[in-house]
Amino acid sequence: MAKDISPACKQCRREGLKLYLKGERCLTDRCAIDRRSYAPGEHGRRRTKQTEYLTQLREKQKARRYYGLLEKQFRGYYEAANRQSGITGENLLRMLETRLDNVVYRLGFAVSRRQARQLVMHGHFMVNGKRVDIPSYRVRPDDVVSVAPNSSARDTISEATELTASVSPWLQADHDNLTGKILRYPEREEIDAPVAEQLIVELYSK
Ligand code: SF4
Repeated sequence: MAKDISPACKQCRREGLKLYLKGERCLTDRCAIDRRSYAPGEHGRRRTKQTEYLTQLREKQKARRYYGLLEKQFRGYYEAANRQSGITGENLLRMLETRLDNVVYRLGFAVSRRQARQLVMHGHFMVNGKRVDIPSYRVRPDDVVSVAPNSSARDTISEATELTASVSPWLQADHDNLTGKILRYPEREEIDAPVAEQLIVELYSK
């Protein structure tokens, strides 16, 4: 499965904000954004003329990196969101939020989406009692996510729950038993992604 292997901290510095891609390190003073808050590369400190296109492009790149997706995957989500009824930008965010790797992260079972994705791919999670190793698997209301019995990652997952400040209101987590439930699909105001989704829609609909 293709994945983005570019250095996580450089992605944050490019977008100019913390995307929390590295888990615990992001909460410490070793965070690269705190130490070098300019874009990476030789011309990172240069001022760039902001155009409408550039603003839209940066917003799309930020969202794509936040959810850890490649361009082709991200574009696919946009096209699916555009085919649904309702507001395309909100549909897009809802689809991204209900990916299993994101849900595992939001439930507090991983310190980052990257770790969540890896745990899912290695078969450490089940949905409704069946092992699911596809990070893009989309959960639905009333689905129950749990750690697979005899998973060798139980300690890692338990440690991650200790770093969890809060769980999204559309989810319910039981950190003692390492299970979680999807209560409903998230409303836009319940998705704390630092993304202006309308700019992404404008970019792709050109
Ligand atoms: Fe981003 Fe985390 Fe690296 Fe900070 S430590 S720059 S938040 S990935």
